[in-house]
Amino acid sequence: MRRFFLEEIKAEKGFCTITGSEAKHIHRVLRMGRGDRLILMDNKGAHFRALIESADRREVRVALEGPLPTPPPSPIKTILFQSILKSQPMDYLIQKTSELGVDLIVPFFSERTVVRPDKEGYRARVRHWREVARSAAKQSGRVTPANIYPLNSFHDLASQGGGDNALRVILWEGEESRSLKSVLRSSSVDGEDGILKQKCPHEEFIGMVGPEGGFSNEEMEMAEKEGFISVSLGHRILRAETAAITMVALVQYEWGDLSLT
Ligand code: SAH
Repeated sequence: MRRFFLEEIKAEKGFCTITGSEAKHIHRVLRMGRGDRLILMDNKGAHFRALIESADRREVRVALEGPLPTPPPSPIKTILFQSILKSQPMDYLIQKTSELGVDLIVPFFSERTVVRPDKEGYRARVRHWREVARSAAKQSGRVTPANIYPLNSFHDLASQGGGDNALRVILWEGEESRSLKSVLRSSSVDGEDGILKQKCPHEEFIGMVGPEGGFSNEEMEMAEKEGFISVSLGHRILRAETAAITMVALVQYEWGDLSLT
């Protein structure tokens, strides 16, 4: 069933009115009308099944048929600190990490960031990225879209603590002794039946990924001094977007909700 995001689902006697671009999308683009069903979601996790009573290009009126069950929250909050990439790879990264359930993406610029639009340009890009995250949430059935923060600088992010129970890593292609796999697996515990079980000892995972040109040595030194653990994804050098998507997938696989339990 088609999903639509509203800022707020305001119910009046069991009915709700959709206006703006979502109304236009429902009526004009999808040509949905009276008798069609859809799912309405707000950005906070509520979602309802609804039946269209009437639709025109300005307004779609629906009867709310009741809340839908919300999937259990992921055992880990997954946060990606991402140095801004060129527009296509950045959109791709936001779409794919959103599908994989990333909770928060914090874009930043670092020494070797290639794209440097002006202030208004950045604001427009953040607005666009939020739209990409919303579309990905709709498509993948996420109840809340990934949150995208305004732009930060590498220095601000590196020196920012994170929660007490956060694991903070920085992906570095030059790391020769520690892999992300070993860090995630170091918390494995043996189950009673002798089968290796993965247990997540953290509430938050924060992973930092560099721009097309990577991090400078000074940046790596600073991040490590501030408590980020430098980790490798193996001997191949991945494009930044591949590295970010892989990282989110691995964390979700080991500790998150890339499973049915
Ligand atoms: N310009 C660099 C590569 C940068 S890759 C070079 O050519 O040597 C872009 C980003 O992806 C890096 O900053 C890093 O965060 C991540 N990355 C890519 N491959 C990686 C790997 N094998 N291990 C860990 N991180 C990797």
